[in-house]
Amino acid sequence: MTTDTAQKETLGFQTEVKQILRLMITSLYSNKEIFLRELISNASDACDKLRFEALADEKLYEGSSDFKISVSFDEKAGTITISDNGVGMNRDEVISNIGTIAKSGTKEFLEALSGDKQKDANMIGQFGVGFYSSFIVADKVTLKTRRAGTDKSAAVMWESAGDGEYTIEGMTKNDRGTEITLHLKEGEKEFLDEYKLKQVLRKFSDHITLPIFMQVKDDKGKEKEDKINEASAIWLRSKSDIKKEEYDEFYKTVSHDFGNPLTCIHNKLEGNLEYTLLLYIPERAPFDLWAQEHRQGIKLYVKRVFIMDDAEKFLPRYLRFIRGIVDSNDLPLNISREILQDNQIITTIKNTAVKKILDKLEDMAKNEPENFKTFWKEFGRVFKEGVVEDFANKDRIASISRFSSTFKDKEEADVTLDDYIFRQKKDQKHIYYIVADSFMAAKNSPLLEVFRKKEIEVLLLSDKVDHWFVNHLLEYKKKTFQSVSKGELDIETSESNEKEDSKEKKQTPEDKQFDSLVSKIKKALGETVQDVRVSQRLVSSPACVVSGKDDLDPNLKRLMEQMGQVMPTTKPILEINPHHAILKRLDKERDDKSFNDWSSVLYDQAVLSDGGQLKDPAGFVSKLNALIVEMGKAG
Ligand code: ADP
Repeated sequence: MTTDTAQKETLGFQTEVKQILRLMITSLYSNKEIFLRELISNASDACDKLRFEALADEKLYEGSSDFKISVSFDEKAGTITISDNGVGMNRDEVISNIGTIAKSGTKEFLEALSGDKQKDANMIGQFGVGFYSSFIVADKVTLKTRRAGTDKSAAVMWESAGDGEYTIEGMTKNDRGTEITLHLKEGEKEFLDEYKLKQVLRKFSDHITLPIFMQVKDDKGKEKEDKINEASAIWLRSKSDIKKEEYDEFYKTVSHDFGNPLTCIHNKLEGNLEYTLLLYIPERAPFDLWAQEHRQGIKLYVKRVFIMDDAEKFLPRYLRFIRGIVDSNDLPLNISREILQDNQIITTIKNTAVKKILDKLEDMAKNEPENFKTFWKEFGRVFKEGVVEDFANKDRIASISRFSSTFKDKEEADVTLDDYIFRQKKDQKHIYYIVADSFMAAKNSPLLEVFRKKEIEVLLLSDKVDHWFVNHLLEYKKKTFQSVSKGELDIETSESNEKEDSKEKKQTPEDKQFDSLVSKIKKALGETVQDVRVSQRLVSSPACVVSGKDDLDPNLKRLMEQMGQVMPTTKPILEINPHHAILKRLDKERDDKSFNDWSSVLYDQAVLSDGGQLKDPAGFVSKLNALIVEMGKAG
């Protein structure tokens, strides 16, 4: 007996399908619009498949090789219809493709489900829901399909309410391909709105290479077709065919930026893995660059199908200003954010992307200095975070980074570490730096006096990230970073190849003659300071505060305190310049009270010029005033 294919039959879903359908509807509900992505990408695949099969048999085209996907909606009927003129399916294919889940490991997958809704939702995302996602929003799905190259009467209609059974019957269909109609659930009518539907469609189809049309009615109620997408994936074209304007236009769509990008990086990588990168460096920092919740500008495509926005796993945080796309041929279409986590393919793509960006920046610094300047001004502070975040690339990041220094005393950061090393004194082992709250505070710090006198260059750092930068880098090209405000400073010896251990405490015979002054000040200040000593750093200022060699940099400490951290109390060291008039005057002071006041004022002003805050500002002012009055009398 032959089966009458036109007869309607009711068949049961494979058990697994039933389970997966139920699970999917509950767990993917919060992401329901993805059904459009799944159906569009199936339609696009069906066209790709026909294109491929037709290579061997042109008759399959039935006279038309123009592919298209159309979407329409009917408000009255409550339906959305997606149709394509791709390869279509015959009866057996419908049964095996749509009635079963032809995936290996389906059973194991179901066994692994935990019953925990969140975990299962992640898993089902990884598993891939494809066509079944229609049932998130539809309570009935009708699929009409005819395989390309078969008789018009050999088409098939499949219908199901997603409740365990489906019907299948023969029908006549003039056009080849598949037409899927979703009868939307009562609560899902929001998709029956031209604007809403278009918006979702655009999101998922902007860069599908086939044209997607939406049927709408014009003012007079006449049907017309609106083209939804450009239908060309710019990144797949060869670089030499793409005009700058086209790159710029695409940038605007991916970034939602009105301006043009500074530069773009376009690479097709072929090897074990195949993927394309089209990345942009914007000209202006986005408003949310510093926000906790900022947009990551990378869109992920798999085989030209848009998968997700904000694919944060493709770039490290310090490159969060980069915008663009990654298109992979190897990732599964239904990849979820959770799998992105530790996926080897992603790691490879990420490493390449970082490398290409660093290459570009190096090239830009050399060949487009104006653009590089803009880049640095907008993104330098974020970029420097890379030294902490990206250990493998920290030296490259350091070499691309720019700083202010005493060489030019300009606020604009345009000194590289290599420039610094090139200008270094012979035998200089350190890269000296000062960190302060602002450029001016750094530039005018008394701690720099001796460096200026000896013409030793010092980096003037005032970005919050700079502390982390020097503390993580520790050294660059074998030169260690050395804060000018930390530890005993002994430029002459430390820069003349003396043994390291002789560095810690070194007193010149000259210092000895000030021993009694030093110990009197120390007594006067008591518990306020850790120590008092003769400074090697000061030339024109009377005193400065520094920290011990193992203490936390005072600026860093302040920063951490501002961020709410409780920091151990470390007392500063007061360094004095005994050749300064105030110290000479103090040395002659015989009145104890006066001596104590002078010492206290000396200490307080050293704290002030370091950018610190006084514990008792009013006390400082009244002491200072008293001293001025007294001096006036004496004079
Ligand atoms: P996936 O797309 O991940 O394979 P789906 O459940 O979405 O899973 O689809 C199952 C199969 O049904 C597809 O592999 C394809 O063979 C077939 N199919 C789905 N949609 C179409 C379509 N529009 N045209 C032709 N075949 C389709």
